[in-house]
Amino acid sequence: MTASRIYLDHNATTPVSAAARAAVTEALDLLGNPSSVHRPGAAARQVIERAREQVAAMVGAQPAEIVFTSGGTEANNCVLWGIDRHIIVSAVEHDSVLAAAQRTPRGATTVPVDAAGVIDLGALQHVLNTNEGALLSLMLANNETGVVQPVREAAAMAHAAGAMVHCDAVQGPGKISVDIAALGVDLLTLSAHKFGGPMGVGALVVRTGVVLSPSQVGGGQEGYRRAGTQNVPGIAGFGAAAAGSSDAAADASRIAGLRDRLEAACTECGAEVMGAGAPRLPNTSCLTMPGISSETQIMALDLDGIAVSAGAACSSGKVGPSHVLAAMGVAPDLAATAIRVSLGRTTTEADVARFISAWSALYQRKHGAATTRRAS
Ligand code: PLP
Repeated sequence: MTASRIYLDHNATTPVSAAARAAVTEALDLLGNPSSVHRPGAAARQVIERAREQVAAMVGAQPAEIVFTSGGTEANNCVLWGIDRHIIVSAVEHDSVLAAAQRTPRGATTVPVDAAGVIDLGALQHVLNTNEGALLSLMLANNETGVVQPVREAAAMAHAAGAMVHCDAVQGPGKISVDIAALGVDLLTLSAHKFGGPMGVGALVVRTGVVLSPSQVGGGQEGYRRAGTQNVPGIAGFGAAAAGSSDAAADASRIAGLRDRLEAACTECGAEVMGAGAPRLPNTSCLTMPGISSETQIMALDLDGIAVSAGAACSSGKVGPSHVLAAMGVAPDLAATAIRVSLGRTTTEADVARFISAWSALYQRKHGAATTRRAS
């Protein structure tokens, strides 16, 4: 008998929730273009506006501040290319921020992180002082390590130096609460598929009064901030997932308990947890297994029916050196043995026990049976 597959890659994408699936399915039957003035058009528009309210409510924003996009990548690109200021980023941002920052006309400055993966606020202050009126882009939580950044403190420092602040909050909803006023940022990126919504839809939250050039021009959709007919079914699913995101976040302590158990068992075997000294998302563990490459671990675990990933492999499927671990000063040899295990609302105790058992067996094949193992 084949054991069922275990999915421990929730930072890459999450299972679509029942409510989001129902909303997408219902919206697929809508005929009208949301920009059309007739009744079918108005019905599609109504679905979008309801979702706009749901997404806004999730992050404490106004509905008019939500600009729907094709996902987190587009929202991040849109900010970095739509605001004509010098860009300041942390060294551990997602590639959709770092790659966009490299191509901005006013240039970009990277702020280092400490060994735990947290932005160096002293270095940030220096960069802010020497680049007055810049745009700071700082993520809420890192997709590889789960390390949560001190966004509120950084935003306050940036505003005092005349800078604007963007936060890539893609990894937040469904895991920790995200409130744009509490974070004190001007722009916020969200992506539906990271918390039970469909892939290919996200939002940029643009605080009232913030002006940015649209990344797509043509029609007047999204208040002239993002042209193109909206993805109505995707947006409907995004709204439903947003409405259910507090239920998912309420599961955080159960998930943190499972993650802690997993880490305790793996560290007993000799694993190191990256970013362990910093505040982290409750579901994420970035683990090294000295002597066995990430790729080998992922393939072996996959053969055992367990899906995990190496760092940010969600973007291309490739396993390459992690810029996040490099920025934390992790030696390349050790970084090349890191895997990311990310739990979610569907994860059970039995899943974690099976992961521990499979991972420990792999470790023992390499390092001999001398190591003790605690698989439950
Ligand atoms: N930002 C972070 C922190 C992410 O983890 C991801 C996806 O992995 C993105 C942005 C990109 O989001 P999307 O997949 O919606 O383009």
